[in-house]
Amino acid sequence: MSAATIRPAEPEATAEPFYQAAAKIYPREVQGRFASSRRLTVIALLGLFYGVAWIQVRGQQALLFDLPARKFHIFGLTLWPQDFVYMALLMIIAALSLFFFTALAGRVFCGYACPQTVWTELFIWIEQWTEGPRARRIKLDQGPWTADKILRKGAKQILWIALAGYTGFTFVGYFTPIRSIGTELLDGSLGPWAMFWIALYSLATYGNAGFLREQVCKYMCPYARFQSAMFDKDTLIISYDPERGEPRGARRRGTEPRAQGLGDCIDCTLCVQACPTGIDIRKGLQYECIACAACIDACDEVMDHMGSPRGLIRYTTEHAMHGRTTHMVRPRLFVYGFLLLLAASAIVVSLMLRVPLLLDVIRDRNALYREVRGDQIENSYTIKVINEDEMPHRYRLEAAGLSGLVLVDPAGPIEAAAGSVSNVSVRLQAPEDVAQGVHVITLRLTALDAPKLVKSEKTRFIGPMS
Ligand code: SF4
Ligand code: SF4
Repeated sequence: MSAATIRPAEPEATAEPFYQAAAKIYPREVQGRFASSRRLTVIALLGLFYGVAWIQVRGQQALLFDLPARKFHIFGLTLWPQDFVYMALLMIIAALSLFFFTALAGRVFCGYACPQTVWTELFIWIEQWTEGPRARRIKLDQGPWTADKILRKGAKQILWIALAGYTGFTFVGYFTPIRSIGTELLDGSLGPWAMFWIALYSLATYGNAGFLREQVCKYMCPYARFQSAMFDKDTLIISYDPERGEPRGARRRGTEPRAQGLGDCIDCTLCVQACPTGIDIRKGLQYECIACAACIDACDEVMDHMGSPRGLIRYTTEHAMHGRTTHMVRPRLFVYGFLLLLAASAIVVSLMLRVPLLLDVIRDRNALYREVRGDQIENSYTIKVINEDEMPHRYRLEAAGLSGLVLVDPAGPIEAAAGSVSNVSVRLQAPEDVAQGVHVITLRLTALDAPKLVKSEKTRFIGPMS
């Protein structure tokens, strides 16, 4: 067979398109216990985010991750690069809390506290306020561009952009003092990098909360993918009760469904309309479900209206759904809880014992020792005093470990401003007859105004070798 006769197989013609645009979701506004809790949580979290950046403690922004200065200010506590262990512990605590609460109560973080949920909720409130309830929003999108539509859409966009801009500004304000960037923004002297980061975070907020919404949860969030690994049959989930709901079908209000061969579900689809991720919980637990409980509120309202008991969709567990006992206390919760307690105790104890003072001793590399005044041996050092405290201090330096050891320089106390690094020259002298050889000595720094602020460091005092 000649090469010319070999042809690659023609791809099979297919009617299925390779790409399907995501259908826009218009979540229906719901009222109820869980909607109220979510609203309160959203308001509290947003209040914290927008408010904490403006709180000052002792003239310093209370929460500031000052990356250029490599210092994190956390409510009066300043963490330096040497304190990285605290940041690592905080991350471990955050991860363990996520594991613990996911095993206990499913995706409560997704439904109530995730930034994507919180800002999407806020953007949807603006959307509802400017464009109206679900049905009117759908009609508005399908209708022609009238003056009313331009006005409503324009108002929504202006509010979204303003909110996204202020969110970007606040976010950057946790890394650069917010008052200074606020002033610079107002007088037009804000630097290009600050402008860039504010614009980037504003754009991220606008895009994620305004447009991507549930697609972030469905396609971008890794937690949605692996959270099922933390689930077991005793984890709290939101579930539709098919035993009670099926067969679903319309019926008159107040009538007995069983007499008509029906279950309690009237197939009104309000639970689907309320779902911010656009899923039908009646098809079973799906990874897209962020456990926001909007479907519970929607269905409870329907059940109230129909005169049926609430809870057709409810918080439950797989065991409870199958008539078995739910075990809230179980081994994996013990393991997560124990590790969480351990990490939390470790950080609390180490923060309580932390001394915000560092002392580093460097020996003079030019001379091992010097003979002075005939019978004295002198060693020189440079000490680095790092005052990690948010207050200035005066320190007394002492040297011990060798009889007759005298601190010649510095003669008086060492002064160190708040959050400063000072290099201080130190000279020690000892009688020649006791200074022979190498001696381990201790330099000790004590704050005169806070005697508990003490740091010691060992070093060597070298004399002539006999
Ligand atoms: S809201 Fe309740 S009654 Fe209505 S479709 Fe959903 S499950 Fe059925
Ligand atoms: S199924 Fe219910 S709980 Fe899950 S995301 Fe949709 S509305 Fe929220």
